[in-house]
Amino acid sequence: MTTLTKTQRTPRKQGMLDNVMRQFDHAADIIQLNGNIRKILEVTNNEFVVHFPVRMDNGEVEIFTGYRVQHNNALGPYKGGLRYHPTVDIDAARALAMWMTWKTSLAGLPYGGAKGGIQLDPTKYSQEELQRITRRFTYALGDNIGPELDIPAPDVNTNPQTMAWILDTYMSTKPPAERSTNMHVVTGKPIGAGGSEGRDRATGYGVFLTIKFWAEQKKIDLRDKKFIVQGFGNVGYWAAHFLEKEGATMTAVQDAYGSIANDEGISVEKLLEYTKANKGSIQGYASAYSVENSEFFGLDCDICVPAALGNQITGKNAKKIKAYLIAEGANGPTDVGAETILLKKGIEIIPDILCNSGGVIGSYFEWLQNKNGEIWQLDEVMAKLEKKMRESFTRVFETSKERNIDMRTAAFIIAIERLEEAYVQRGIFP
Ligand code: GLU
Repeated sequence: MTTLTKTQRTPRKQGMLDNVMRQFDHAADIIQLNGNIRKILEVTNNEFVVHFPVRMDNGEVEIFTGYRVQHNNALGPYKGGLRYHPTVDIDAARALAMWMTWKTSLAGLPYGGAKGGIQLDPTKYSQEELQRITRRFTYALGDNIGPELDIPAPDVNTNPQTMAWILDTYMSTKPPAERSTNMHVVTGKPIGAGGSEGRDRATGYGVFLTIKFWAEQKKIDLRDKKFIVQGFGNVGYWAAHFLEKEGATMTAVQDAYGSIANDEGISVEKLLEYTKANKGSIQGYASAYSVENSEFFGLDCDICVPAALGNQITGKNAKKIKAYLIAEGANGPTDVGAETILLKKGIEIIPDILCNSGGVIGSYFEWLQNKNGEIWQLDEVMAKLEKKMRESFTRVFETSKERNIDMRTAAFIIAIERLEEAYVQRGIFP
């Protein structure tokens, strides 16, 4: 086993991996984590990098690079999404896989952490090409994923359709008797292909719930509050939907193409309708004005929901933030430098591994239904999700109060201690 200590580690370029390691180190230092367990958790268990050819619509062959990093499986099978984005590389996959380990541990799920994806810009490919790319990627991963080994799910730019292609490809490569028993090799599937009611909104609903629980603790009424959302994909839209239903007002949105704002409010549902007719983009929406991307985080609001990519709130823009609460729908949106500034300013952060954990909890429910041949109703799924989110939120909130630390450090401590206990009890083979 590789035994890199904190000081021996190769220098990392600034980025998500550096961020997650610093978050981990901070929590591990506070609890004086057992040194051997620290060495184990600092490195990833397995890393797969696959290069594979796919025929494009014009007849040419293009070579793609796909990643799957399995960080840790001490608590159960590896679990985590696949993203399709130009920023996907081995370090991004490592960082995101580590966050999954902390997330599943904190949520009390019987899972470890993994992440992966393909480095590509999906807007440049047709649906047919994306289907062939996905199927060939699945084939290249082969038996390195599996329903009891490593279970992918949607992430940035992947969706239930992507999961259905993965499922179909995986099943098609198995002997006939094993095909229908492998439904739970991926989660986030369309309902008709073995998906679960409620998985579509689970992440955004969880983001909303953590904001609601936080507001309850602080005796804040969400009804007249303004929020801004970065990213209007699955997470951003559903979080905004539930916040609006609670009476809060969305006053600005940013997506990959630009930013829009309207202090009087932007209707979440109308904006969704607009994006559906506008290739998924918010640009040109008539009932808002456009603002510079660089101004977005400095806009006047109460709550800021980053629900796009990592490292968006940095030392550069943190000073401008007006919100008093940041709810991290994305993974790793706030870098460590920004966090220091925000905490000093008294701005609170509901950390990603808690805030967006509704997604993987929803995935767990889907996986359980598939394993047990059950189909749950929407209200049942939502009630179970709310119960789990409340438990996690309460533990994080209480720990942060008791130890007088921020919520991220509290969340990391809870997650790491659960893993530490498992390792101490099991020992190290041989
Ligand atoms: N991609 C989501 C996340 O980052 C969901 C992962 C899952 O459901 O396995 O948490």
